[in-house]
Amino acid sequence: MMPKLFRTLAFRLTLWYAGIFTVSSCVAFVLFYFLVSHTILNRIDQDLLDKANVFSTVFSVKGVPGIKTLAVLEARAAGEKKIFFRLLYSSGEAFATSHMAYWQNIRVGEDAVKALIAGKKKVFETVTLRPHSQRVRVLYHFSGPGVILQTGISMETYSHFFVAFKRVFTVAMAVVVLLSALCGWFLSKKALSGVGAVTETASRISGSNLDARVLETGNQDELDYLAKTFNKMLDRIAGLVASIREMSDNIAHDLKSPITRIRGLAEITLVQGSDKQAFESMAASTIEESDRLLDMINTMLVISRADAGEGGFRFEPVDLSTLVVEACDLFAPVAEDRGVQLECSTPARAEVMADIGMVQRCLTNLMDNALKYTPAQGRVWIEVDADPLNRVEIRVNDTGEGIKEAERGRIFERFYRVDPSRSEAGAGLGLCLARAIARGHGGDVTVTSGSGRGSCFSITLPKGNVRVI
Ligand code: ADP
Repeated sequence: MMPKLFRTLAFRLTLWYAGIFTVSSCVAFVLFYFLVSHTILNRIDQDLLDKANVFSTVFSVKGVPGIKTLAVLEARAAGEKKIFFRLLYSSGEAFATSHMAYWQNIRVGEDAVKALIAGKKKVFETVTLRPHSQRVRVLYHFSGPGVILQTGISMETYSHFFVAFKRVFTVAMAVVVLLSALCGWFLSKKALSGVGAVTETASRISGSNLDARVLETGNQDELDYLAKTFNKMLDRIAGLVASIREMSDNIAHDLKSPITRIRGLAEITLVQGSDKQAFESMAASTIEESDRLLDMINTMLVISRADAGEGGFRFEPVDLSTLVVEACDLFAPVAEDRGVQLECSTPARAEVMADIGMVQRCLTNLMDNALKYTPAQGRVWIEVDADPLNRVEIRVNDTGEGIKEAERGRIFERFYRVDPSRSEAGAGLGLCLARAIARGHGGDVTVTSGSGRGSCFSITLPKGNVRVI
């Protein structure tokens, strides 16, 4: 199901992109506006001050008549709608002006005059001239003792700039918002196209079809990495699903055979069994088959728990030397039956903290295999060793048929048996259980072997509280 447009990451990224662009453009515009308007205002103020200084100089030379004439001349020269001059007494009363027809609405600022009298050297004001709504910058300045010059300059340049700026700002912002939204949409779509490919592949994958893979671009970027990781994950899942399928096939097969045997025996006994002995024999076979089934199910449970780290092992000091010697004694009759020579070499003591019952199961599985897969006249020998890392190692060696390299990685899988005909008794759980137990103790079971050169299965149990004498 596709998410709604406004919920998509592309949409949200576009919004962010457009938002950030708009805000930063606004900030840039505002800064630019302040900078330019400040510069213009400074220029106007400087112009006013220059004029005021000229008035002061003329006053000092020619007195009041001189500046009266100057006011008229200056205003005429600059343009009577551009500048005005008004000469005031300290009381604020005007006694001379330039041509004021255009400026008649400009009053004398009482506060400004008061500020001058209070000691300020110059006072600037910005006033709006009605009815033109034109802004005027006004300066109050003492041209001489008791004579204040009020001069104003039209801020037309400033207003022009402001109007032009407003226009440029509006157009530029519209373009910026549009362009940033388009760029944002394009970029986020492009950046997220890889994610879309992963989503599309994921939606194509169903329980039965795990073959779909995302196309790897090879760009070595995050999306390529995502595609690679996703594909690797799919490979792993496909592997797991295959092994689960194989395992359930094996479980089905291994459960089916004894149940079929029990059913067949019961049917034959029912049809043909006339006496009590036939039924007793059927009951004995049923018990035997059920025990094998139970044993298999229990083994599976132990493996699952040990794999999940919930083996419930009861750790106690165990002397592996004694354990191996006892196991050899136990297997001696079997070895003899098979015509296989069984030996063991152990140090005086090799103590570890372990669950004795579990280690016994682990060892007997390996010994059972060694005897099972070693032909008559062969040899099985067990060694107990403590390696320099203070781990105790039990090696179960045989001169049997060996295990091909291709099989070596798989024999520890649940229900995996090299011989597909399953001529030897066994459910393919022995090695898996042995490894689960060893790993549950923090150790491992490994194999070295060559086809036809015998095998060596090694149980390593970690230091823990190992004591080797
Ligand atoms: P099984 O019940 O078949 O013995 P295991 O898990 O103990 O199951 O062993 C898995 C497979 O590994 C066996 O089917 C066998 O082919 C191979 N195998 C185990 N031990 C040996 C060994 N000592 N020599 C040769 N093959 C072995």
